[in-house]
Amino acid sequence: MRVLVIEDEPKIAGFLARGLEEEGHRVDVVGDLAAARLSVRTERYDLLLVDRMLPDGDGLSVVRELRRAKDATPTICLTARDRVEERVEGLYGGADDYLVKPFELDELLARIAAVTRRAAVPERLEVADLVVDVAAHRVFRGGVEIQLTAQELSLLRYLAEHAGRVLSRTRILDAVWGVTHDPRTNVVDVYVSYLRAKIDKGFDPPLIHTVRGTGYVLEDRRR
Ligand code: CA
Repeated sequence: MRVLVIEDEPKIAGFLARGLEEEGHRVDVVGDLAAARLSVRTERYDLLLVDRMLPDGDGLSVVRELRRAKDATPTICLTARDRVEERVEGLYGGADDYLVKPFELDELLARIAAVTRRAAVPERLEVADLVVDVAAHRVFRGGVEIQLTAQELSLLRYLAEHAGRVLSRTRILDAVWGVTHDPRTNVVDVYVSYLRAKIDKGFDPPLIHTVRGTGYVLEDRRR
């Protein structure tokens, strides 16, 4: 893959470039927003790794510009500040995932595999009258737009990508919240209930089904 690393700290940029080149990727490194804008205009990348704190501004502004131009290049945001609001903001800014520094190369490679796999998914997922417009981050049921939080949208997207397949809580936790999350948490059940209240309540048929002892499946069970 062709990867653009937007990172002003030479040590981190060097670590990323070496690690990715060892995996067989071609890597360009830029250290500020101006150079990043020039690179994305002149080259075609398969993946962007974006630091938020650059000398001339927030790295996410490049991602926002790309998304406005309907460019869906997979993007992972690298953030030094481990704060939930920034992660959410990172996702809203159009990034597909984020990593909190410091991180291990293995963790980064796993996230890269996940975002590039997701990028291969169709832009629009449909189950009965539910439409997930993946590219635009919008969801409709019966033609009515439904407002979801970033986390609810990630969960719905994952369920819709695997529609008709039973997904275990562990697998969902892994894919949507990341492997480092506490496996004893009930976050999956909590978010499934939020999602049901928004996309199933008041609509027919229900699409999210509980598979006792296993997990969940999104499907249209009408015959
Ligand atoms: Ca920085």
